[in-house]
Amino acid sequence: MIDDFAKPKQRRQSVPVRVGNVTVGGDAPIVVQSMTNTDTADADATVAQVAALARAGSEIVRITVDRPEAAAQVPRIRERLDRIGIDVPLVGDFHYIGHKLLADYPDCASALEKYRINPGNVGFKAKRDTQFSQIIDIALKHDKPVRIGVNWGSLDQELLTKLMDDNAASENPVSASAVMREAIIQSGLLSAERAEALGMGRDKIILSAKVSQVQDLIAVYADLASRCDYALHLGLTEAGMGTKGIVSSAASMGILLQQGIGDTIRVSLTPEPGGDRTREVQVAQELLQVMGFRAFVPIVAACPGCGRTTSTVFQELAGDIQGHIRDSMPKWREQYPGVENLNVAVMGCIVNGPGESKHADIGISLPGTGETPSAPVFVDGEKVATLRGESIADEFKQMVLDYIERRYGQ
Ligand code: SF4
Repeated sequence: MIDDFAKPKQRRQSVPVRVGNVTVGGDAPIVVQSMTNTDTADADATVAQVAALARAGSEIVRITVDRPEAAAQVPRIRERLDRIGIDVPLVGDFHYIGHKLLADYPDCASALEKYRINPGNVGFKAKRDTQFSQIIDIALKHDKPVRIGVNWGSLDQELLTKLMDDNAASENPVSASAVMREAIIQSGLLSAERAEALGMGRDKIILSAKVSQVQDLIAVYADLASRCDYALHLGLTEAGMGTKGIVSSAASMGILLQQGIGDTIRVSLTPEPGGDRTREVQVAQELLQVMGFRAFVPIVAACPGCGRTTSTVFQELAGDIQGHIRDSMPKWREQYPGVENLNVAVMGCIVNGPGESKHADIGISLPGTGETPSAPVFVDGEKVATLRGESIADEFKQMVLDYIERRYGQ
């Protein structure tokens, strides 16, 4: 019997949290977010990068607020973004002196839509509880939510030591990595409980518990998800550069999302020097789209090519169409509502070409080596044309644009 396993588990029920104009958790779509790497004190650079991330599709953007000069710029950054029509919610990332910055710069506290608190970095040990309370009090005063974001690189050492000692004295000790995972989870849950005890509602708390190893991340979040109903922010910390970062993030978060866990995701990629920060937004969107959770941009399916394709026409055509679609999306979103659900196929020969093209909304099967130099085009599963000659690529591109206009134009 064929079992219908090809779908994710039902989404874990979490308490929805409003972050500015975006809802995280509950039944809201899984939110894509990212973080700037500019110095927030440099308002020009930060405004430019937040705008670029938002235009690329980041629905929430986090900025570092690490010192008075940065806190002072936050309201100006907000105003400038508003002036250019970028209403993406800004989240302040605070460590060590967040309580002081938020108290000394009330305009910063009010311009931000959420405060990220790292329980391991809320000041020095003796003052940690007081400083945590101060941040929660300010959040309550400004009616802002918080993310309690535990990171294993800055884990509460006092809590970790206590759990290590308890484990050593236990009759059934577990591994050191299991204790570490428990410490990460407890750090988040205890801080959230403390925030609730101070008067913060569950609808104002998002949790994250980031580690850098794929299997650890899956284990930590699966456990965390079963122990609370706070909205969860997924992310693999220090995921790394290039393909390693992408694969690690997709593998870990993909499995969790399939289990119904995760209300917002951030893909943390280490950019090449001068590299494009928006890449992490693109990867996050593609992860959600290929898994069928959301649609952001039309998908162009292309075969990998093989010895049956000696020319590069089909790769160039697939790349051309994908590039054109991505560049056009900012204006197409308004011009062609629903266009993000479009599927285009560009295939290299008749082996899988016609079959794949028929499954797409519009697809072409280019001629492989030794085949008749003609390219059948399929629209909504039916063959509608056969292109020949030098201008196959241009003609097909035009057919894609005509299809979009016909189907999604208003
Ligand atoms: Fe090779 Fe044709 Fe398959 Fe593409 S569709 S990978 S060209 S056999």
